[in-house]
Amino acid sequence: MLTQRVQRIKPSATMEITAIAADMRAQGIDVISLSAGEPDFDTPENIKQAAIQALAEGFTKYTNVGGTDELKDAICLKLKRDNGVDYGRKEILVSCGAKHSLYNISQVLFEKGDEVIIPAPCWVSYPDQVELAEARPIIVETGEADGFKLTPDLLRQLVTPRTKALILNTPCNPTGAVYGRQELEAIAELALEKGFYIISDEIYEKIVYGGAVHHCIASLDKRLKPITLLVNGVSKAYSMTGWRIGYAAGPAPLIAAMGKIQGQSTSNPTSISQKASIEALTGPQEAVSAMVVEFEKRRNYVVQRLNAMEGISCYNPQGAFYVFPRVSRFYGFTFNGQPISCSTDLSAYLLKEAWVAVVPGAAFEAEEFIRLSYATSMEKLAAAMDRMEEALGKLRG
Ligand SMILES: *Cc1c(COP(=O)(O)O)cnc(C)c1O
Repeated sequence: MLTQRVQRIKPSATMEITAIAADMRAQGIDVISLSAGEPDFDTPENIKQAAIQALAEGFTKYTNVGGTDELKDAICLKLKRDNGVDYGRKEILVSCGAKHSLYNISQVLFEKGDEVIIPAPCWVSYPDQVELAEARPIIVETGEADGFKLTPDLLRQLVTPRTKALILNTPCNPTGAVYGRQELEAIAELALEKGFYIISDEIYEKIVYGGAVHHCIASLDKRLKPITLLVNGVSKAYSMTGWRIGYAAGPAPLIAAMGKIQGQSTSNPTSISQKASIEALTGPQEAVSAMVVEFEKRRNYVVQRLNAMEGISCYNPQGAFYVFPRVSRFYGFTFNGQPISCSTDLSAYLLKEAWVAVVPGAAFEAEEFIRLSYATSMEKLAAAMDRMEEALGKLRG
């Protein structure tokens, strides 16, 4: 019999769609996938070279559980340079991806009886990681009217003596919302007043558009450092999703506890990837801005195309590489006798009829939406938009 712990959590809601898409591709159907959660660019050459050199030099053994001093120093340098925050080696833990950093945090910080506030739409793993730690995710809905952002008023209503933490994700996956300085200050003020932790997932910090600026919440007030856990990594900014390097920065006792969990589970993240990550963080940064320029063009195109489709309204994201259009106008329609009543039905319809794979909003605790990733070529995006427009048009008729 499986444990209650594992029975409590759900598999990734994207799996069903991914499985159908894979089947279709195997049958030779040209499915366009807009479901990817990773940049489509190759890892920059200088970073790959650093890994090759690490291999050649035989840097292929265990390292310190929480990462090498050299990488920790590079992370401290990055946090100072990009975010204006001061951290030392004892306040950094390198893990096997930012997802792993978040998992370690949930294991040392949460337990039965704790409440963890999560603004939705939210990234798929937050609620399940909280539940794995036997705490209660308190999911709070935000909408387009507030730019998909948690307001201090709403947050104040949710805080109880059991509130242990707030998980904040800016820029946000899936909405692309980027919190402004004053918005973060108001949230931080409340955290200081009520005494809960802020877990700040800043994995998309480099991917912002137009005038949008990323603010690291820990940089806003000296008093925040003891209650903040910063989470970041190289996956998204440097197109390094497969390398599995993420990190957390926070109070030394918490970081040490997370290191203990990691020491009894995964041990160190890959030695070669650690070397490559030093190059990513301290080497030339031009590849990042080139990628952002390309993403911005695609965002502009996709948002404009979606908003021109009848029945769809799409918020203009300021960051990350997803759009999150509202599609609930199509719920209640049928196609060939099949009802379409939720984001999963509509995603299945788009896959079967338009050969376009998207992720249902349900995966992000937001049933009225679907998520499309524009981390794919302009050509494919244009074809996908044409196909979607046609398929959705059939639904109206
Ligand atoms: C991709 C992603 C992560 C995790 O990235 P890793 O590859 O595990 O470093 C964390 N948070 C959000 C919101 C993400 O989209």
